[in-house]
Amino acid sequence: MKHYANERLAQLAQDRGMPGEYIRDLRVVGSVLPFKVNEYVADELIDWSAAPDDPIFRLTFPHRDMLPADVFDRMAALLDAGAPRDELRRAAAAAQLELNPHPGDQLEANVPTLDGRRLDGLQHKYAETVLVFPSQGQTCHSYCGYCFRWAQFVSQAELRQALRDPADLTGYLVGHPEVTDVLFTGGDPMIMRTEVLRRWAEPLLEETPSVRTLRFGTKALAYWPARFTTGPDADDLMRLFESAVAAGRHVAVMAHFSHPRELETEQVRTAIARIHATGAVIRAQAPLVAHVNDDASAWSRMWQTQVELGITPYYMFVERDTGARNYFGLPLVRALEIYNEAVRGVSGLARTARGPVMSAGPGKVMIHGTAAVGGEKAFVLSFLQARRPEWVGRPFFAAYDEHAQWYDELKPLSASGASFPPFPELAA
Ligand code: SF4
Repeated sequence: MKHYANERLAQLAQDRGMPGEYIRDLRVVGSVLPFKVNEYVADELIDWSAAPDDPIFRLTFPHRDMLPADVFDRMAALLDAGAPRDELRRAAAAAQLELNPHPGDQLEANVPTLDGRRLDGLQHKYAETVLVFPSQGQTCHSYCGYCFRWAQFVSQAELRQALRDPADLTGYLVGHPEVTDVLFTGGDPMIMRTEVLRRWAEPLLEETPSVRTLRFGTKALAYWPARFTTGPDADDLMRLFESAVAAGRHVAVMAHFSHPRELETEQVRTAIARIHATGAVIRAQAPLVAHVNDDASAWSRMWQTQVELGITPYYMFVERDTGARNYFGLPLVRALEIYNEAVRGVSGLARTARGPVMSAGPGKVMIHGTAAVGGEKAFVLSFLQARRPEWVGRPFFAAYDEHAQWYDELKPLSASGASFPPFPELAA
């Protein structure tokens, strides 16, 4: 697979006709945030005649507004002056810290222990689900500009937050029979060779009968469908799925699709059919982001196509408060409008997609809508998943705010006495 990053990415953009001014922006933004595009994304998904406004170009290529103006100017001045590599690296590291590299400290929080040892690279936040970040799966076939894991891609040190030994996963799960679901995530677990993936997944089939569902969170269907079709060990991957299904497990490919175009190529359709033939299912999710899919008709089209292809629409997420959030983020009010309009455009079968949902520190918070509470306009919210199971499903309110983009920007209602955060133990 051919990849383009750094200077090769600049060369690719230049070869495909992007003007010199854009190439400078690309270099400046790319000195702070990570970008990588593979040949499939460049050749099959991006419509170069529509760049830079093409949604897949916006998804995968730098834009100057992805950096705060002062950071952009600082980095541009250094690059224009031909600053030495070390100085550039130091300035980039300082700039990265300004971009909230660890939103909600997700990777540090919820880390379990085994025999008194921290298992970095595992997250156990919700009773029934464990997330695994295998050390060999901490990159992706291409990078999304809005990725909340971008900090992992720019700093080797972050790799310590990945799990190295499959025996630690199995060992932990043996002692936690309440865990029914294991979600392999990354980066992208499908970046691992099947032989490596097998070392992680197979022991779960043999040693942890309490684990009933294996989920694989991946963007490989969108960015590199050959992983499931003609890739060197694609057949072996299909055998792995089949054996997990034959062992009575539910195998779910949690596919990240950001735009309906990602579902249109012959390659992705073949990949989807092959996955289904193993008995595995595919569920689809993505964040709602400006410049890429902030358009209800794009979501309706995406959900409808997913249903036709046998994929279950699952989540519409809210963009996280990190990295290029200024560029990709949208107010919650706008997210709600887009979700409601998109849902109205599809039949009940595609309304399995829940949203807009914030994967926030205390849990997955869904915005149901707005209402008047004690005469005051309010957001109506609830937890779909929560650190404390008793919070799930209890509606709560926050003051309506047309600018708020994330859970921690929400405020209590002033008149009604309804508190926010909603539960005393959460406020504490
Ligand atoms: S595929 Fe997922 S982990 Fe990889 S860059 Fe995109 S959002 Fe991030």
